[in-house]
Amino acid sequence: MAEAKSEDYWRDKLTPQEYAICRGKGTEPAFSGKYWDCKEQGVYHCKCCGQALFLSTSKYDSGSGWPSFFQPAEADAVQEARDISHGMIRTEVMCERCGAHLGHVFEDGPQPTGLRYCINSASIDLQDN
Ligand code: FE
Repeated sequence: MAEAKSEDYWRDKLTPQEYAICRGKGTEPAFSGKYWDCKEQGVYHCKCCGQALFLSTSKYDSGSGWPSFFQPAEADAVQEARDISHGMIRTEVMCERCGAHLGHVFEDGPQPTGLRYCINSASIDLQDN
């Protein structure tokens, strides 16, 4: 990771919920976040470091209650890691730049990728571009 900030830095910058999700790998309840039903156009940036992560043009309604995308804004905008927590084998998705936990990626998404990036609203911030 290019940037290594202290836990105090993140605790100060983020709300308690954002901190628990972004830095503690938590998950917001389904249908509770700011963006699961959002159809506005723009670019979703990392809540922690501002890196562009997902485009609204890649967002779709997965029915899951979390914002879902079929691809990241750039292939190297995110990094992935094997996650065996909570009795499941999943692929965690993190911000490539700051390591923020974003969510998970599943292989049940729509074409053209067949992927579903299932992302916490608390980890992202929609901007015009
Ligand atoms: Fe980041």
